[in-house]
Amino acid sequence: MAFLLSSPVDVLSGVGTKRVEILKKSGIETLEDLLFRFPNSYRSGELFSLSEDRIGKFSYFSLAVESAPFVVNLKGRGKTLRYTASDEDGTRVHILYFNQPYLKNQIFLGQKEYYGGILQEKGGVYYLFSPAREKNAPNPEILSPVYSSVKGLSSKQRENLISQFLPEVLPQIKETLPQNIIEKFDLMPRRRALFILHRPSDEKQLEKAKHRFAFEELFRFSVQASIFASENRKETIPAFSKDDLTPFLLSLPFALTGAQRKVIEEIRSDICGNKPVYPMDRLVQGDVGSGKTIVAAAAAFLAAQNGKSTLVMAPTEILATQHYLSFSALFEKFGIPVFLLTGSTKKKEREEIFSHTKSPSPYILIGTHALIEDSTRCEGICLAITDEQHRFGVNHRNRLGQKGDAVHSLVMSATPIPRSLAMFLHAKSRISIIDELPPGRQSIDTLYVGEDKLPRVYSFLRERILAGNQAYVVCPLIEDEENTSPLQSAAEELHEIQKNLPEFTSALLHGKIKPEEKSKILAEFKEGKIKILVSTTVIEVGIDVPNATAMVIRSAERFGLSQLHQLRGRVGRGSEKSYCILISSHSGKSARERLKKLCDCHDGFELAKFDLKTRGPGEFFGTRQSGFGGESFTESFSMEMISEAAEAARIFLENATEKDLSPFMRKMRMN
Ligand code: ADP
Ligand code: MG
Repeated sequence: MAFLLSSPVDVLSGVGTKRVEILKKSGIETLEDLLFRFPNSYRSGELFSLSEDRIGKFSYFSLAVESAPFVVNLKGRGKTLRYTASDEDGTRVHILYFNQPYLKNQIFLGQKEYYGGILQEKGGVYYLFSPAREKNAPNPEILSPVYSSVKGLSSKQRENLISQFLPEVLPQIKETLPQNIIEKFDLMPRRRALFILHRPSDEKQLEKAKHRFAFEELFRFSVQASIFASENRKETIPAFSKDDLTPFLLSLPFALTGAQRKVIEEIRSDICGNKPVYPMDRLVQGDVGSGKTIVAAAAAFLAAQNGKSTLVMAPTEILATQHYLSFSALFEKFGIPVFLLTGSTKKKEREEIFSHTKSPSPYILIGTHALIEDSTRCEGICLAITDEQHRFGVNHRNRLGQKGDAVHSLVMSATPIPRSLAMFLHAKSRISIIDELPPGRQSIDTLYVGEDKLPRVYSFLRERILAGNQAYVVCPLIEDEENTSPLQSAAEELHEIQKNLPEFTSALLHGKIKPEEKSKILAEFKEGKIKILVSTTVIEVGIDVPNATAMVIRSAERFGLSQLHQLRGRVGRGSEKSYCILISSHSGKSARERLKKLCDCHDGFELAKFDLKTRGPGEFFGTRQSGFGGESFTESFSMEMISEAAEAARIFLENATEKDLSPFMRKMRMN
C-alpha cells in the first residue's frame, strides 16, 4: 500500500470508522493533516525527585504508594480515586485519577512504580493528576513527542499511527521557503524539520526544527503584512461626505480624552472627505480601559450618518453582549437599530435580524464568530470592526470583510501582541494609539505572594466585600495531556472560597457553562448579588463591572504577562482604588521575574515587550489552530526572529514574481 500525503486516515491499520470520526473532530482527515499537527511538547525519561523545581512540567518520578487508595464521589462530577505516594527522599505527593475507580484494585500499599505526569502544587502540597504508571524505568536518553490527545486516541496511539507512514511520505514533503533564504538564515530544510518534530533525535536538532517552522510562519506573516501594506491601496472609493460627529459627542456622558479625540480624527480622515479615499485598514491600539469602545462607536456613527451599516465582531459571547448593551445605549437616541447575533441566538430571532439587515437604512450588527459562520448576506455594510483582535486568527478579518462587502476595517486591540509589533515594521501609518487613560483612574496596586499567604488573602477579600465591593478570583485551566480535567482547579477554588468566605454569595464561571447560564451569572455579578466570581480566563476580555475592585489570580505563573495585564484590567474601572493579588509558589526564576515585573509596570506595551523577551510570543500565530502547541515551541520565537523574518521577507519580495506571490495571497496555512 502506497501512502500519499493526501490519503485518508483510514488507510492506516488500526483506523476504523470510529477513529476516523474521532480524528475528524480534530480536523484531521488525511495523513498530511496528521503530520502537520505537531506534538505539544516532548518528554524525556529523566527521573526527578519531587522537591526539584518541576512544577508545571512533565516529569517522571519513582514513587512508592504510601496510603491505600480510596474513591471520593464528587457530586455530579464523577468519581475520584485518591492516594498518596512518596519518593526516595520521603517527599509526599497526592495522586488523583478521575473516573477510573477500577484502578483501586491495581494499586496497593508499598507498591513501587514510575509515575509520569505534570507536577502541580497547591498550598504547599504536591499533586499529580492522572499520571501514567510504568513498571520499568523510562529511558532518560530518549525524547518522545507528546501529542494533544483526544478521547479515544491517546498520544501514544497517535505516535504509533504516524510511525506507520512517516518514512514513506517524507519524500513528498515540498520545500516552501526559497533556497537563498534557507541558506542565508541557516534554516533546517522542511522535510528534515518535519521528521525531527515527530521523531526528535536530540534537544539541539529539535530546537532547529522548531526554529525552522517558527521562522516559516513569521516569514509568511511578514510577506503578507508587506503585501497588505502595499495592497488595498490600489483602488479608491468615494469618501463619506457627512463627517459631523457633534451630535454623537454631545450625547456622551463624559468628555473624550485627548488620545481618543486624536484617534477618532485619524479614522475620520481615513473615511471622510470630498476626495475618493483608500479603504480604511486601521489598527487601534489602546491599553485596557483606555476607552476603545467609544472610538469604535464614533466610526459606526460616521458610517450611519452616511447611510451605511457596521458589523462589530467580538471574540466572546460575553463581550459581544456587553458591546450590544453599550452600543444600544449610544445609538438608541439616534434611531439606529443595534442587533446581537451569537451562537445562542435562536433561529427565529436570527431570521428576524436578517430581515432587518436586508433593509437599506443603517444598522449596527454585533456578534461573535457565529456572525461570519452564518452565510446570510447583510446589505449596506461598509465598516467592519473587530474588537480584541489578538483573540482571533489570521484569516478572520478577510472573512469578515466578505460579509456584506465591508470596505473599511477597524481593528481594536489591547495588548500589542507580537503580531502587532511585527506589523509596526510594515505598516506604521495604519496604527492608531490611545496612550492615555480616562481621567480619575488610579493605578491598580499589584501584589505578588506565595500560597502560604492564602488565609490573609481571604481576609483581605472579606474586608473589600464588607466595604461594599466585589471580587474576581481567576484560576488557570490545569490540563494534563491524558485524562483532561480542566475545570478541576476552578471548581476546587470555588469550594475553597465557599469554605473560607461562607457569608458571601459566590459563583463559578467557565467556558463550558451554557450561554444563558453565563449571562445570568454575569448579570447577577453586575447587579452585585454575587460578590465573588470564581472564573477561568473567560473574563479576560471586556467585562466591565466597576464595583469589582479586587482580583486574585491563582497559579499566576501559568499566564503570560500580557494576559495577566488583561485580566488585571477587569478591576480599576471605577474611581475606587483597586487591587490585584498574584498568587504563586512557583520557584522558577523567570516566573518570579515576570510576576515582579507586573507589580511595577502598568503599561501593556512595555509588558508585551518584556513577555516577548522572556517567554516568546505565545499565541502569536493563533498557534494552537495551526499546529504549534505547548510552551516549548513558543520559546523559540524572539524579537530577533521577528526582524530576521522581516529581513527575509524583504529579500524575497525584491525579486518575487506574480507566481511566487500567489501562495501568500491566499489564506495562511502551515502546510
Ligand atoms: P477598552 O479600551 O478596554 O475597551 P472601554 O471602551 O471598555 O475600554 O472603556 C472602559 C471604561 O471607561 C468604560 O466604562 C467606558 O465607559 C469608560 N470611558 C471611556 N472613555 C472615557 C472617558 N473619556 N472618560 C471617562 N470614562 C470613559
Ligand atoms: Mg474593550
